Amino acid sequence: MFQSGYVALVGVPNVGKSTLINQLIGQKLAIVSAKPQTTRHRILGILHRPQAQILFLDTPGIHSHKKMLNRRISAKAEEALQDADVAVHLIEPRLPLKVADQKIAERIRQRGIPHLVVINKVDQVAKPALLPLMAEVARQWQPDEVIPLSALKGDGAEILIGEVSKRLPEGPAFFPEDQYTDQTVRFLCEELLREKAFALLHEEIPYGLTSVIEKFEETGGRVHIHGVLVVERESHKAIVVGAGGRMIKEIGTRARADIEAMLGKKVFLELFVKVVQGWSGDPKRLTEYGI
Ligand code: GDP
Ligand code: MG
Repeated sequence: MFQSGYVALVGVPNVGKSTLINQLIGQKLAIVSAKPQTTRHRILGILHRPQAQILFLDTPGIHSHKKMLNRRISAKAEEALQDADVAVHLIEPRLPLKVADQKIAERIRQRGIPHLVVINKVDQVAKPALLPLMAEVARQWQPDEVIPLSALKGDGAEILIGEVSKRLPEGPAFFPEDQYTDQTVRFLCEELLREKAFALLHEEIPYGLTSVIEKFEETGGRVHIHGVLVVERESHKAIVVGAGGRMIKEIGTRARADIEAMLGKKVFLELFVKVVQGWSGDPKRLTEYGI
């Protein structure tokens, strides 16, 4: 029997969903950041096994609906849960359980799909401390399984894959064996660019910044990329460019190194900064930027 299905990775911002999908697939698919609310898109990671194809969906954390940008992002998390055959619910490795996690657990129960709770970041805590947490999770939510795991180190990942596999429906392989995501190379480049900008910039700038690849051309084994960092204000543009252009140069250098590693080709990356006032509150712009 061959099995296949969608597995939604859900949880509060910063719990390690993007780190986990990268670890499970063994590729950099989703950008990771110490700043919460970095993931804006639904990311699909395809895991191929001899008797199964597991389609993991990394979702943006479910959070406040005040801003248009956040509303769009939360809708994507909800969508992933709608599509899922199994829910993997990541939590932090410490008590007390969060109200937000309580809500996520309820949402999963409403859907009626298997609920696997992953206690992530176990590399940060002593093993005995996990027992009361596991007991509390089991008591409050009665999930199908509670799995301690370190997305960063990979410990527990095989156990998770085994528990997920047991619960997948019978079905065909949806994707060819050499494909590990449905994202385009262009999109992955945009995300890498945004990851580098997020890591280097501080304060409120990252949340009002997005990245667009305007040109992606391959000629004679070299890739020419035109990247644009879109910000909301002139004052932010000055910071992203940096004194003497040093900041944008550093973002570009780091992004190029990752893109070259991903493509296995030489890359020319030209980077610009553009001001688009109020883009994060403008539905048309959000759609244009793929959010
Ligand atoms: P997301 O918002 O749920 O997608 O979280 P990310 O995957 O972006 O991770 C948020 C932060 O937690 C990053 O700084 C990660 O390096 C860190 N992190 C994720 N998983 C682990 C883990 O297993 N152990 C430790 N120590 N840190 C982790
Ligand atoms: Mg994420």
